[in-house]
Amino acid sequence: HDIGKNIVGVVLGCNNYEVIDLGVMVSADKILQEAIDRKVDVVGLSGLITPSLDEMVFVASEMERRHMTLPLLIGGATTSPQHTAVKISPEYSQPTVHVPDASRVVDVVASLISAAQKPAFEQANREHQARLRDQYSTRRDRPTLPFDKARANRLRLDFRDVAVPSFTGVRKVDVALSDLVPFIDWQFFFTAWELKGRFPAILDDPKVGPAATELYGHAQALLKQIVDGKLIRARGAYGFWQANSDGDDIVLDNGFRFPMLRQQEVIADAKPNKSLADFIAPIESSITDYVGAFAVTAGHGVDELVKKFEARHDDYSAIIVKALADRLAEAFAEYMHAQARSDWGFGDRLANTDLVDEKYRGIRPAFGYPACPDHSEKARLFDLLGARSVGLELTESFAMTPPASVSGLYFSHPQSRYFAIQRVAQDQVDDYARRKGMATTEVERWLRPVLSYDPTLVVA
Ligand code: SAH
Repeated sequence: HDIGKNIVGVVLGCNNYEVIDLGVMVSADKILQEAIDRKVDVVGLSGLITPSLDEMVFVASEMERRHMTLPLLIGGATTSPQHTAVKISPEYSQPTVHVPDASRVVDVVASLISAAQKPAFEQANREHQARLRDQYSTRRDRPTLPFDKARANRLRLDFRDVAVPSFTGVRKVDVALSDLVPFIDWQFFFTAWELKGRFPAILDDPKVGPAATELYGHAQALLKQIVDGKLIRARGAYGFWQANSDGDDIVLDNGFRFPMLRQQEVIADAKPNKSLADFIAPIESSITDYVGAFAVTAGHGVDELVKKFEARHDDYSAIIVKALADRLAEAFAEYMHAQARSDWGFGDRLANTDLVDEKYRGIRPAFGYPACPDHSEKARLFDLLGARSVGLELTESFAMTPPASVSGLYFSHPQSRYFAIQRVAQDQVDDYARRKGMATTEVERWLRPVLSYDPTLVVA
């Protein structure tokens, strides 16, 4: 997680630690070789999207295989104390510590490298992780529904009044940054810096107010430079297609088919087991429905700007630029979604605060997020949109590059809501793999965080 990693680096640097930052998308081999060659005291990994969780497990197992003794720190957006306890730390016999945010890293590192403090710290960490593993195994033993039962319990919506967009197919867009600024959600800017509190109240907070105000001032000045100088380019593509759901797939009239997952837990109160496919009119209904898609980036120009600041040893501004680019990308997604709602004929003129709270009709789920946790479907989304032609790419683990990018699908049904796919059993994985045209083992790799079973324990 690039920004988080940079902030951790800055925080440690301010506390007189020497930090070797290897960058992003670094192989296990390079990380560990560097750790050995440079005789470091601690190795830290940061993860942004779910595939990096697996990679962290691999790094831990490699450290064990190489008989390393360095403590391993785990942090970043998708990591959790649970995942660290259940999946990573069992691979490595040395301390493996989840660091929830950058403000904690100094204490953790200090405890780990102090001969006096380390034993007690390590003991407490091991006990805590053992408790988390116990909780996990209790939770995992809860039953899931057989997939056909979950499917029979689908959400049934009324599709008699579908919204018809004003065009179909893809449109490319190139937007002035000044148009995006009003859509910025500043809350997340402070979150990225580990400053806790609601925006704008955070600026007057007795504790973090002064720091937040100073940061905000720097950010505003940099943002002005970027906007006035057109130093970042905001480009994207979006569109609409006729679509129906066919079982749990969403099928477009151009032949694209997005397989979706369905909630498979036993749900109380007769609530449905939802899938995003339920928000699109079923093919049996003979109703012509529509789905939309988008991919936007505010990442072109960011690297050059960051390098310029780094060359001046102004790491602070370099990180702010990356955080601002993320803000602009999210603002772009919000801007694009407002445009899509207007194209769809139910436009609204919402204030920034209402946008931030998503008080509008419809949703824009993003692959890799809870309702559609399979990151690898971004490949199909990018093909549909021709996203590469507006400068967007995917890494081999399906992270978007440039990093300041957002993509997803648009749903217009007034009852469409975000939900979470949490537990997917093997019968659904087999079915999904078949629909996706991918080997089950490969699918299991991408769905690892939501599987209700451990594929390494299943005998074919
Ligand atoms: N305003 C924030 C970003 C919003 S995050 C910012 O500026 O950073 C909310 C977005 O995450 C949603 O618009 C959607 O794209 C995605 N999202 C949230 N919950 C989701 C879920 N359960 N399933 C799929 N996507 C989800």
